[in-house]
Order: sequence, then structure tokens, then C-alpha cells
Amino acid sequence: MPNISRIKKLEELKNGSFDATIIGGGINGAVSAAVLSSHGLKVALIEMNDFASGTSQESSNLVWGGIKYLESYEFKLVWNLCKSRNQLIKQYPANIKEIRFLTSIQKNFRKSSFTIYLGSLLYWGMGRFFTKHPIKLSNNKIELIEPIINTEITNGGLEYSDAYLIENDARFTFQFIKTAWDNKTCGVNYTELKDSVYEDGKWKLKIHDKIGEQFFDFESKVLINATGPFLDAINNVSDIKTDKKITLSKGIHLIVPQITKARRVITFFSDDGRLFFIIPMGNKTCIGTTDTAVDDPDPSITKEDIQFVLENINKRLDLNKPIEESDVISTRCGVRPLVIDASQETDDDWLQLSRKHVLEVNKEKKHISIFGGKLTDCINIGEEIHHEVKQLGLNPNPYHENWYGEPTQSSKHDFEEKAKQLTGLMKASNDELGTVADRIWRRYYNNADEILNMIKEDETLLEDAFEATGLLKAEIEFMKNAEMVTCTEDILRRRSNIGLLYKLNQTILEI
Ligand SMILES: Cc1cc2nc3c(=O)[nH]c(=O)nc-3n(C[C@H](O)[C@H](O)[C@H](O)COP(=O)(O)OP(=O)(O)OC[C@H]3O[C@@H](n4cnc5c(N)ncnc54)[C@H](O)[C@@H]3O)c2cc1C
Repeated sequence: MPNISRIKKLEELKNGSFDATIIGGGINGAVSAAVLSSHGLKVALIEMNDFASGTSQESSNLVWGGIKYLESYEFKLVWNLCKSRNQLIKQYPANIKEIRFLTSIQKNFRKSSFTIYLGSLLYWGMGRFFTKHPIKLSNNKIELIEPIINTEITNGGLEYSDAYLIENDARFTFQFIKTAWDNKTCGVNYTELKDSVYEDGKWKLKIHDKIGEQFFDFESKVLINATGPFLDAINNVSDIKTDKKITLSKGIHLIVPQITKARRVITFFSDDGRLFFIIPMGNKTCIGTTDTAVDDPDPSITKEDIQFVLENINKRLDLNKPIEESDVISTRCGVRPLVIDASQETDDDWLQLSRKHVLEVNKEKKHISIFGGKLTDCINIGEEIHHEVKQLGLNPNPYHENWYGEPTQSSKHDFEEKAKQLTGLMKASNDELGTVADRIWRRYYNNADEILNMIKEDETLLEDAFEATGLLKAEIEFMKNAEMVTCTEDILRRRSNIGLLYKLNQTILEI
């Protein structure tokens, strides 16, 4: 089993000298580390909390081209997101699946059902006809395929395709950290950048290890700021001036018992005109989201947020019993780091702000800021970072390892053959998404064999760590040794998503 020791990685970092250092272990930082290290560069990544513990654990888990951005004529953004979505569906066949989106259109909505259907055809074309084609739906048809939708207030709708992440966003992000580790990246969690100065052609960095309570220094030729909502504050620390800045939009989700058995995303437009989603999440349902301007990069969910989501959902669904606050199993609350011009005010047209990303490069100081972006955009961002780092004079090796994508189908087949020889691996998984073996593959890919070996040696490791959650004791052991977990929440909320799906009694695992 790979033994990833946080202490050893910290030792490597101390007084080390790197080609590129990335601040922030969300999706943008993780793909940057994966792409640069797979091209042979010596890379460091520091994350002040756990990997993917910021916005990258609070998304809607959708891998989508952004159909709604057509309304604000952001054709280039939609074109690029669709390209990225298609690539992700192809490269992650076990974890990213095409899914149908059923959209119902309310009577008197600002656009007619027919216009929205035409928009979906354009969207399908911009998505290179990669997914199943859209279908226009009458109210009768909607009732037939999804009886929980309240068709008294709708004027038909449509069905089209996008994709979603079966495992959670944080686990998806973490796969890039693993790739970076495989390529010798010195990536450490719970380690915060405290100071950074560009001197004599190098970045001199001061770091705080929050677990060991120690400060230390190291240096780097290039510095990449991938701190999402904290980007402007960290650029201030590094004395970097930019043409762009970040503005923050808070979004929340509620996880509730399964609303419908059908594995599709139900969408509608909420009272404030934005797109709302009802998304399958394992054997539960995730509903949201909101879009409110905030100043705090780490905001909390309020009672009003919860009421807003519940009111909107209950109004548009025809459930036997409305969803109440007491039904909520868990919540997600994050901020979108949106990019705007440094001189721009954000009061107008809040919902129209773009979701694009911008890389701003300071050539003199060899510094890159990653503004904005989406999980779906991650391959584009990785490729652009690779390009910009080359322009800054580093010399990435043209012959490189794959930095994204699942292992080959034949490795998956070999794993399945081994799993069949063990009892209990081919039974249905709790998350209603195939077998236990399928789930192990989706979470661990090339390390999945090691989970099997552990179970072979000790059958008790096939038991659930928390009753009826489907997270095996073997997985916890693996995470402790090979995935740099430092507390129970790292396991329940990010390496897995069972902390979202179940109200667990707060057993503290020995880490
Ligand atoms: C409600 C919501 C729904 C969304 N839904 C989707 C969706 O369905 N599909 C999609 O594609 N996108 C979606 N997004 C957008 C997507 O989640 C974000 O664009 C993406 O996660 C941002 O990643 P990031 O790496 O820039 O930021 P983050 O994930 O926030 O990462 C930044 C990291 O920097 C760290 N950091 C900050 N300061 C320091 C420091 N001093 N030292 C070290 N580390 C530091 C933070 O701890 C944090 O982990 C959604 C966003 C929200 C809020």
C-alpha cells in the first residue's frame, strides 16, 4: 500500500527549492499540480485546510456545459465548457455519467417553452451532438415520466442531457492530488501560506504547519495562486496587482431523503429566476442552489437560505408531504469565486455575472493568478497552466504521464475478475449504483487492488465502518495510510461523502 506520510512531505518542503508552488488545494490547484508534475517539474502544493475543503466540496456535482449561460450570450464559455464536459465523460466512464435533465417551465416565465427548447437544440449542437438529443415535453408527458412535478403551474418543458459526478466533487478533486503525488509533488494539507516575497528571481515563502504548529521557509521559481475565494487577499500578501478581482456568490444545497427513484436531474426556475436543481446523490437527493452576494469567503448557511430552498421546491413538486427542515440530513454551503474587472461594481445584474475563468500572469515576478472557473472547466485550466508555465521559462518535459482520466478498461476488467473471487464484493452497493466492487473501483482506481488484498487478509475489513453506510473498514484503513487524512471529517466529508448522506453518531475514528 502506498504510504503517504504527511510528516515526510513536510520534511521535503522545509528549505526545499521547487520549480512551481501552488497555493490552494481545490480543483484549480489540484489540476495545476497534476499537469505540471506529470510533465516532470518539481512541484509543491500547500493547502491551509484539507484538500478540496473550500468551494470544491460545495458544488452541485454537475459536469455541464452551462445551458443557462446561453441566456447571457456567453457562447464561448458554453462552447469551452461543453468541450471539457465531453472530454470528462469520455475519460471518466465510471465516475462521470451522462444524465437527463428534466426542465419544467412555469406559466408566464420570461421565455416560452418553445424558445427554451430551441435553446436546448443550440446547446446540443454546441456540445458537438455528443449526448442524447433534447426532447420537447407537454404537461401530460411530464406527468407520465415524473409524477412528482406539479404541472398545474407549468407550461410543458423539455428533457436534455448533461453529466454528473457519481462520487463527490471533493473526491474528484482529490484524484488530481493523488496523480500529483504519484509524480512526486510535495502536496501537503493543513499548511498555510503566511508570507511570500519575490527576491533575486525567486519566491521566498513562509508556511505554517497547522498540525505540527511550526513555521518554515522554502523557495520556488514560479508561484501559482489557486486560492479561489481568497485569491485577492493572497495576492495582497504577495504584493501582486491584477486587472481582475474576485467577487463572491454564496450557494447552498440541502441533502434530503430520496425524492424520486428515477436517476435524472429535475430542474426549474426559482422565484428569483435562477435555475434550481434536484440531483440524485447516492441513495439520497441533493436540492439547491442559491446565488447571493457575500463578502465572507467562508459563510454559514442561514435559516432563511434553507427556507428559500424548501419553499421553492415544495411549490413546484407535488409530494404527499412537503419537505420540511427536519427532513434535512445535511447541508452544503460554499462561495463561487467569480471574476470581474478590478474597477467593476457588482451591484447590477448579479445573476448575469460570468462563470468564466481568467489566468492573469505577472511575467516579471513569475506569478499566475487563477480567477474563477468551474469544476467542469478543470481540464481547460490545467492545459492553460501548462502553457503559461512554459511561457514563464520553465521547461516542462514534452513526454509526460497522463495527468487526467481513469485507468484503462483492461485494468478495470482485471480488478473485476479479482473482485469476483471474493465473497461480498459483487453484491449491490448501498448507494444503489452498481456493486460494492464498482464503488471501490470508482473511488480507488489503480489502488482498488490493494483494498481487495486487505480484505483477503482480514475478512472483517469487508464490514461497514459505520453501520449500513457502505464505507468499508478496509477503506478507512487505506485512507489513513495512503490518503493523508488527519481527522474524521476528512474521511466522512471529502475522501467519501457518507457524512452528507447519513446522520452519523459522531464516533471519532482513531486517526
Ligand atoms: C453552490 C455552488 C455550486 C456549484 N456547482 C458547480 C457545478 O455543478 N459544476 C461545476 O463545474 N462547478 C460548480 N461550481 C463551481 C466550482 O465549485 C468552483 O468553481 C470550484 O470549486 C472553485 O475551485 P477553486 O480551486 O478555485 O477554489 P477552492 O475549492 O475554494 O480552493 C481554494 C483553496 O485555497 C485554500 N487556501 C486559501 N488560502 C490559503 C492559504 N493562505 N494557504 C493555503 N491554502 C489556502 C482554501 O482552503 C481552498 O481549499 C459551484 C460552486 C458553488 C459555490
